[in-house]
Amino acid sequence: MIIDCHGHYTTSPRQHEAWRTEQIAAHADGKPPPPRPAVSDDEIRASIVNGQLKLQQERGTDLTIFSPRAAGMGHHLGDATTSEAWATACNELIHRVCTQFPRNFVGVCMLPQTAGVSPRNCIAELERCVLQYGFVGCNLNPDPSGGFWQDPPLGDRYWYPLYEKLVELDVPAMIHVSAACNPAFHTTGSHYLNGDTAAFMQCLTSDLFKNFPTLKFIIPHGGGAVPYHWGRFRGIAQDMKLPPLTEHLLNNVFFDTCVYHLPGQELLAKVIPLDNILFASEMIGAVRGIDPETGHHYDDTKRYIEELPLSPGDKARLYEGNARRVYGRLSAQLAKQGGH
Ligand SMILES: [Zn+2]
Repeated sequence: MIIDCHGHYTTSPRQHEAWRTEQIAAHADGKPPPPRPAVSDDEIRASIVNGQLKLQQERGTDLTIFSPRAAGMGHHLGDATTSEAWATACNELIHRVCTQFPRNFVGVCMLPQTAGVSPRNCIAELERCVLQYGFVGCNLNPDPSGGFWQDPPLGDRYWYPLYEKLVELDVPAMIHVSAACNPAFHTTGSHYLNGDTAAFMQCLTSDLFKNFPTLKFIIPHGGGAVPYHWGRFRGIAQDMKLPPLTEHLLNNVFFDTCVYHLPGQELLAKVIPLDNILFASEMIGAVRGIDPETGHHYDDTKRYIEELPLSPGDKARLYEGNARRVYGRLSAQLAKQGGH
């Protein structure tokens, strides 16, 4: 079985995102938001059948761990009230996709984060999504200010109430920024990769996993600059008299395979222990085109994995076993959804 641990609902029916624009405009005018638009089951079906499901079938993957559009989370917009209403609406749509396609999608929620507001505020929505919807994880934005990094680093006690709930529910967090509103950063080209790299370093310089030995983070996009600069991070940890990174971080930190060329995948698999790598493509997402050098979509990451010199057992861990281990509720949820 091939589990893609990183997919977003980038094809949601148009009125859903249109409402978000109206909601933020109303908030700016000091008015209540308009009522939520109706979204029919047929519209959801069409958006998936012609989008993510089609690509799953074409590329030969089985299941996507599916979350709301990441750049659309927009935690820098509005306030805690607008974030809550938006997260609720986005997560509900994910639930409806998973209900219509229970063999192909399992849900992960976005959190109603707001810059400068305690992450404690996210606990109720996380619990609702995990316990009522059967979601198996969440996306945690390490920078709700959208490129200005105004909240404390991930190792700070500021985040602890949320971590306590993640541990209690046995769900991991994918550390995933949203859109950059700082013009110095391109959202998917620099802010995403900066976010991944910064989050790893925040973990490295903290005692987070000493305090939460079972907390699990997935750092997406191949870990940003982390695998490429592994020697730098090992050296910094050594200078700081920290344990080796394998002990210090790798029981808790995992990387996905959203790296869009073969040499990058080769490096990831060479540097990072295989137990810490989860298959993912982030389709349909950051890069939508076809690589003229290969003739295939950049984000068809399975093609690169197939070229790696891995044993069938190693490949099975990367495609399936690691995801089932890191997403502690996944196997039980799949059984409940009647597939696999
Ligand atoms: Zn993503």
